[in-house]
Amino acid sequence: MSSEKSLAVVLRIVDFSESSYVVTLFTEDFGKITALAKGAKRPKGPFESALDLLAVCRIVFLHKSSDALDLLTEAKLERRFRGATRNLARLYAGYYVAELLTELTDEGDPHAELFRAACDSLAALEGEEQLDMVIVRYELTALRLLGHLPRFGECVRCSDAVRGEGRIAFGQLAGGVLCQRCRVGQRQVVSVTADTIRILKQISDPQLPKSHKIEVKRTLRGELRGLLNQYVSNLLGHRPKMHKYLELIAE
Ligand SMILES: [Zn+2]
Repeated sequence: MSSEKSLAVVLRIVDFSESSYVVTLFTEDFGKITALAKGAKRPKGPFESALDLLAVCRIVFLHKSSDALDLLTEAKLERRFRGATRNLARLYAGYYVAELLTELTDEGDPHAELFRAACDSLAALEGEEQLDMVIVRYELTALRLLGHLPRFGECVRCSDAVRGEGRIAFGQLAGGVLCQRCRVGQRQVVSVTADTIRILKQISDPQLPKSHKIEVKRTLRGELRGLLNQYVSNLLGHRPKMHKYLELIAE
């Protein structure tokens, strides 16, 4: 049993006993972990109220080698999520960031870049960017880093360039755009505007600077959200809980 340190974002807090919680954390160095936080409910406990949903903490924990829960021994608050003080939509968006981390990653599978993308997104949710675009950028980054990014430039079947000004076929199950030839016989194909595909391609480009503010016309934002809702639901095998609240996010 070794003592480990990492930065971590708090994804879930569940009652365990009168004085303790079981917390799910996404750590920068060890990926997702589930740990027992003994005495966390005591006002002057060892965690100084750092264990707050979506907060970023510096933690120390004992890594159990068996199936047993890890043991959290220290948590110091680095940054509390303050989006909720602005409005509910920001809180829901934050919950969705956490839900995707929980659902898309396995315990003990480190993804430092994804950790940083999640922290950046939580910080951006407190800023002035279009909320739904913060979420779209985070989703596409998570999909890319985890190897699930759909193809937006070339046909997912034959790799021919797919361009056009009208509408483009997107295969939800195929995992990307389809050329005229390959769309035949595919299941779950939706037809979306070329503009929407172009925006998705732009946002999913890892070279896009963090500081680049993405502004998307209202008419396209609904289509974008619909396409990603379906894609993420297919990937997870169920609809994420927070999807129904994402409508509130389109301000
Ligand atoms: Zn094709």
